[in-house]
Amino acid sequence: MIEATDLVKRYGPHIAVDHVNFKIEKGEIVGFLGPNGAGKSTTMNILTGYLSSSEGTITIDGLDILDYPLETKQKIGYLPENPPLYPEMTVKEYLAFVGAIKGVPKREMPKRAAEIMEITSIADISGRLIKNLSKGYKQRVGLAQTLIGNPEILILDEPTAGLDPKQILEIRDLIISLGKDHTIILSSHILPEVSAVCKRVLIINRGLIVADDTPENMAKRLLGGSHIILRLDAPGKRIAQVLEKVPSLRRLEFRESQETGTAEVVAEATEEVDIRRDIFRALSAADIPILMMRALDMSLEEIFLQVTTQEEVNP
Ligand code: ADP
Ligand code: MG
Repeated sequence: MIEATDLVKRYGPHIAVDHVNFKIEKGEIVGFLGPNGAGKSTTMNILTGYLSSSEGTITIDGLDILDYPLETKQKIGYLPENPPLYPEMTVKEYLAFVGAIKGVPKREMPKRAAEIMEITSIADISGRLIKNLSKGYKQRVGLAQTLIGNPEILILDEPTAGLDPKQILEIRDLIISLGKDHTIILSSHILPEVSAVCKRVLIINRGLIVADDTPENMAKRLLGGSHIILRLDAPGKRIAQVLEKVPSLRRLEFRESQETGTAEVVAEATEEVDIRRDIFRALSAADIPILMMRALDMSLEEIFLQVTTQEEVNP
């Protein structure tokens, strides 16, 4: 439903967005992850039509945003990095104001505002001046503002930036629940943020998309095959003798164990095969107790560092 083709944004000689391509289907929750200055806000500003691109096109449901600005903008609710709030208005006044801009008929507004305030849990502060609200509530009002025109797509630029941990969890839950009936693109430079909410992640670095996948697949690809970590109650030499006979095992690597008198080993499978059952059978036949066995996952943080560092080494 959202397609970006060869997007480029230049600021003088500087390329902020460098031939970016992606396609986002209806109902997806996609994270834009990248360090500060990577080009996330610029891309989002172009997607929402707030900024023009130097090259490339954006289509929403097949309509080019430049040829059909009204039709396409109507489908998008946008929460910029700094939400455009009016501090001297009350929450209710502000939502009515945004509703008027978005063309919500005046008689429908009270019902619409009530629904949105319910969803975003701001009904109890509807009469308060925006300037007197906490940062967490201001962010809720910002999110409420994106919902007024009843858009299918929500574009949220660093929606949890500057919030405290409790507010982050609350906003995150709110985004997850909005994801049930919206297509969402959100940006963040904070890794757990994106992995908590998104099933698909685009990693953007220096204006380039360097990865586009689920966090799990990224880990698999970068690790090159599946890795299992084991803690075993037997001497290392004996473990090696037993595990070397497992056919789909490519490599064993011993590590320092957290538990004295035990051995810890990382077993790498030849391909994408799950070797846990074979390992269990081999160890059990040799009467070696398994104290722990789990897949060795790569955290999004490790993936992110690997992908962005590779980019610097080999630009
Ligand atoms: P992010 O949101 O990922 O932190 P931005 O999209 O804000 O990154 O910025 C991407 C790059 O473009 C940065 O190097 C930034 O300095 C540059 N940039 C952004 N806006 C402007 C502007 N109006 N003029 C010149 N350079 C800009
Ligand atoms: Mg930004």
